[in-house]
Amino acid sequence: MLNLLAQINTMKKYLLSVLAILPLMVGAQDFYRCYTHEALQHVEASNPGYIDRVNEIFERAKLAEDFNRDEVYTIPVVVHIVYDIDEKNVPDSVVYNQIASLNADFRRLNEDADNVRDTFNTIVGDTHIQFALASIDPEGNPTTGITRTETEVESFFDFATIAEDVKSTADGGIDPWDQEHYLNIWVCDMSIFGFVNILGYATPPDGLDHWPPDATTGLADGVVVQYQAFGANNPVPLEIGAETYEVLGRTLTHEVGHYLGLRHIWGDGDCTEQDGVDDTPNAESQSSQDCDITKNTCVDDIADLGDLPDMVENFMDYSAESCQNSFTHGQIEIMRGVLEVERYELVNGGAEASVEEWNTLAPEIKLYPNPASGPATLIFEETGNYTVNILDETGKLIQTYRTNNEINQLTLDGLSKGFYMIQISSLEGIRTEKFIVQ
Ligand SMILES: [Zn+2]
Repeated sequence: MLNLLAQINTMKKYLLSVLAILPLMVGAQDFYRCYTHEALQHVEASNPGYIDRVNEIFERAKLAEDFNRDEVYTIPVVVHIVYDIDEKNVPDSVVYNQIASLNADFRRLNEDADNVRDTFNTIVGDTHIQFALASIDPEGNPTTGITRTETEVESFFDFATIAEDVKSTADGGIDPWDQEHYLNIWVCDMSIFGFVNILGYATPPDGLDHWPPDATTGLADGVVVQYQAFGANNPVPLEIGAETYEVLGRTLTHEVGHYLGLRHIWGDGDCTEQDGVDDTPNAESQSSQDCDITKNTCVDDIADLGDLPDMVENFMDYSAESCQNSFTHGQIEIMRGVLEVERYELVNGGAEASVEEWNTLAPEIKLYPNPASGPATLIFEETGNYTVNILDETGKLIQTYRTNNEINQLTLDGLSKGFYMIQISSLEGIRTEKFIVQ
């Protein structure tokens, strides 16, 4: 009897979710690119005042004094893969690729960065925020920064809980690692009857102390991504209805933007709603996978620039991943403000991330002479598209080049004597090596 009741309850719960979601599945393209806005409203219903708190934090982040604009913050990451069948057990190679493209997007090392329209050139930039898989777990043991949990749960989506069960061992998922010190990313299935429903959702910064992992009124801190939308080299295609969508890893870029305090560029409303960022052009609505560069749906008054077209290049829009390539300076300031206040412990809390290990993923380079007193030669072991950054001892970016040549001459013009780092980035990873100018 108990069993039967439990079964009926589960069915009811399931039916409820299906009914609520059914209208969304009518058109092939109807799915949630991101559920963060809806998730906040969901929490607000049971936890009044929550959205006000998130807004307060957002305003405070804007005011945070960013003394160290060029300091590179590294966020330790743990990726939790939760699967019931093999195709959801996303391989390590996909995780590495996803972290590499997350880094490329945040450091403006993405190969398509130059595709941004000239009109936005002066407002886009490098966040100086990067990500590395954790090398030490919360107990102090060495780790790959990837956990794998086999589960009985086919799909974690539930209208009552979104997909919060994936964040709980007791509910078939896996408990988060200490959220003050690690960015937790869960990769799982949130589909409904096999239909992809939500690509991802994230928690913006809130009073983190008040969010125990088993919190029932709030969302457990972190990011959740639908498994097919994770990693550009994911062997499982992202198919929704009859369409196959190109995945470039930008669901995670977008969700981490929310996690670091950003809102959707159209302000989740019409032209009267703003995203709270001064330099992002407003839009009447999200761009629904569209990359239409002729659209200018709202009148803006952006300092020195006035009215700008809708910015489909922005990671916080819903444009197709292939036309997204940029964060703006205003967005960057908010994310850095969050890391300096609300999520301070994340980059100053001493959790170790495997930056060194990460380095081994990018192809080998040869740089000679080293020490150098004039031009130097840089040789890549493999051909590819590379971004070459020269950083000073403090990590400040001094010069940047893009190349697909195997052999490159670096003039090292204008570098005074001292220690430098050369950072090579491709979609395979980032490699940083020291060199000396004498
Ligand atoms: Zn979103």
